[in-house]
Amino acid sequence: MGQNNSPSLDTLRAFETAPAMFMILSPNLYILTASDLFLEATGTRRDTIAGSYIFDAFPGNPDLEGADGVKNILSSLTKVIATGKQDAMPVQRYDVPDRSIPGAFIVRYWEPLHVPVFDDTGSLSYIIQSVKNVTGEIMSRAEAKQSRADREESLRELDLVNRRLSAAHDTLQVMNLSLESEVAKRTLELEQSERKYRNLIEHSPVAMQVFRGEDMTFEIVNDSMLRFLGKDRDIIGKTLFQGVPEIIGQPVVDVLYGVYRTGKPLELHGEKVILERNGISETGYYDVIYRALYDDGEVTGVLGIAIDVTPQILAQQAILESEERFRNMAEGSDIFISLTDEHGALEYLNASWADMTGWARDNLKQLSWDEFVHPDDRKAVTAKFLHGLENKQEFTNEFRLQNKENEYRWLRIKGIPRFDSTQSFNGFIFSGIDVTEEKQRLLEIEYINKALIFSNEQLSDANLKLLESEENLKTAFDAGGLGSCSLDLKTGRAEMSPTYRHLYGLPQQGDISWGMLLDSVEPEFLNEVNLVLENAINHGAPVDSTYAIRNLSTGERRWMRVVGKVYQGADGVNERIYAVVMDVTSQKEDEIRKNDFIAMVSHELKTPLTSISGYVQLLDLKTRQGSSYDGKPVLDKIQAQLKKMTTMINGFLSISRLESGKIQLARKKFDIADITSRLVEEYHTLVSTHSFVFNHCTATLVHADEDKIEHVINNLLSNAVKYSPSGTSIEINCTIKRDLVVLSVKDNGMGIHSHDVPRLFERYYRVQSLQTSTIAGFGIGLYLCAEIIHRHNGKIWVESELDQGSTFYFSLPIANGEQA
Ligand code: ADP
Repeated sequence: MGQNNSPSLDTLRAFETAPAMFMILSPNLYILTASDLFLEATGTRRDTIAGSYIFDAFPGNPDLEGADGVKNILSSLTKVIATGKQDAMPVQRYDVPDRSIPGAFIVRYWEPLHVPVFDDTGSLSYIIQSVKNVTGEIMSRAEAKQSRADREESLRELDLVNRRLSAAHDTLQVMNLSLESEVAKRTLELEQSERKYRNLIEHSPVAMQVFRGEDMTFEIVNDSMLRFLGKDRDIIGKTLFQGVPEIIGQPVVDVLYGVYRTGKPLELHGEKVILERNGISETGYYDVIYRALYDDGEVTGVLGIAIDVTPQILAQQAILESEERFRNMAEGSDIFISLTDEHGALEYLNASWADMTGWARDNLKQLSWDEFVHPDDRKAVTAKFLHGLENKQEFTNEFRLQNKENEYRWLRIKGIPRFDSTQSFNGFIFSGIDVTEEKQRLLEIEYINKALIFSNEQLSDANLKLLESEENLKTAFDAGGLGSCSLDLKTGRAEMSPTYRHLYGLPQQGDISWGMLLDSVEPEFLNEVNLVLENAINHGAPVDSTYAIRNLSTGERRWMRVVGKVYQGADGVNERIYAVVMDVTSQKEDEIRKNDFIAMVSHELKTPLTSISGYVQLLDLKTRQGSSYDGKPVLDKIQAQLKKMTTMINGFLSISRLESGKIQLARKKFDIADITSRLVEEYHTLVSTHSFVFNHCTATLVHADEDKIEHVINNLLSNAVKYSPSGTSIEINCTIKRDLVVLSVKDNGMGIHSHDVPRLFERYYRVQSLQTSTIAGFGIGLYLCAEIIHRHNGKIWVESELDQGSTFYFSLPIANGEQA
């Protein structure tokens, strides 16, 4: 480049101290100089870069993949040289070398503007590369949310700008002073210099303006300033209030006038200024510097410089607002909200926390909150907390915490890790609620559940027992042949056990009505049965009735006893009868037989008594006649009748003794064959109607009550005579079977029907037939025989065929196995 084209040293100096970031390049892209702020921002020194080729001084970051900064800048500069027009480049990533670490780079985003400056002859004198460091903005744009890092970054940047501005202020002061002295010293040079100065201001990428006179007439306004103000070049020559009427009343005006009046420089940081641009009122924030301009020691004007800091201020405001919003929200919330730093130390607790715990909110970092956690929960709570902290992971803790009343409350606290825009961990935000009531309810539900499970178990136990006892009852009912029935008095429907149905010959399946049951009742009992039922329904009287039925399926007449109870419903109305039925036929028949027996006994006793009475009257008559009457035959007859009565009475007495357990066995050893032989002999003598054959066996000893055994043999012999026709023979056998002696009496009489055989040895049992109806008897003989033999541990039985005859047997143990 030709020396002629270089800017003067003065000009360069003026540039160097300007409060903006720029670098001045020769037309062949060598660095002439750079502003102090530029050097500061790029971490370089003027002497190391001045005279270097731009890209030697600022090489591209070799580690940045796809870095196109060098290429873009070169193409922009080439364009400016070729066209002679300025070029505002979009944001460029162009990292600068890190002064502290050789070879390392610092991330930087720039907004470069290349402005060509021409000399009076119109040839390119130099190129101003003005840059705006937008690294913060670029970074913050994505993050504008609320991270602390952002805020700190913004604050740092603001601080930096402030520092730069104040540096600029000092520099400007120096510059002013030097300008003043220069003006005084070199008036001649001034005109030229002033042109250059004006040129410099006009081409400066920093918004600058010069006011002249008390009415603040715009003397110089550069393009940047015109853009700021949103005005055209025609404001030059107008006063401030004419050119920018919307400024009237804004604080910045007072400052401007103050500088003019006092001559003291002033700067405003982040000053709010409302300007009308293209008819739209816009609010912006600016760092503003005003410097008084002197002429012969008198203030004649003011230099104004403005830097737009609107994005930073807005970002800062947004952070503050967001923090404010968070605080307001947190403070007004019932939820417990807290923040910790990345080490887990408490930074913030909201009002709810303080209210519940009574904790003071100053010096939170020192608060040992874990000491208030219930000792049983503490270990788990801190473990989870530390795990979350270590892994920067979301977690939830549920624990008891002591409140200010020293009561434990159940809390559920959720911790969410906080990360800033660079993804570095900032700590946790916690939100929590009091779940004591919920917990209480859960505990109650758990308790109720347990109680329910317990009572269920008991219930199923009870059910099992009920089933068992029902089963037992059923078994007992079945064993006892008892039927059960439940009669619904409203519907007349009866539920009956199978036994009940069986006893009445009712169908085993299906509903049974009261009417069906009545069908089985023998007609002579119908009235009684109905009466019992009526009394039960109307008066709740207990049921106890014995009546005869005709089994509906077999037609057999049976006696039933029904015992029941009436149950009332909640309304006190008789609703249901539960009844048990049993077949009492045998008892009933026994009773009937007993009654018959009594009638018969009375009759039998009456007969000998009548004849005795007749004989006594005869004796009386004869005695009164005084004749010598021989009363012996009559007395013998009386004697015989009395004997008959005694025998009869003895028989009855034996029964009653037997039944009352008073009968005693007088055991002794005797030969059963002997007494049998004797008895057969007696019958042979006394009974002429039958013939008797006794088949002897060897003499056999038994250990028994001789009288009673004799009674048994006698009874069997007398029955054989009674129930077989005259002229037939009766055979008596005595046999030995191992250690038993068996005695039998065989007749050739009427025999016994097989269905009578099993009941023959029952008390009062007599075979009912035409043949037997003419034969006197009480039905107690065989019963007594059986009782006597059983008490001797023997057996008694019969083999018989109707019309063919019967053989009655009994066996007894042989005494000590000996045979006599
Ligand atoms: P009873 O006084 O009626 O004879 P028992 O008890 O001695 O009483 O006999 C019971 C019934 O057994 C008799 O009524 C009779 O019908 C029947 N019986 C007893 N012995 C004989 C027999 N040898 N042959 C046929 N039937 C007999």
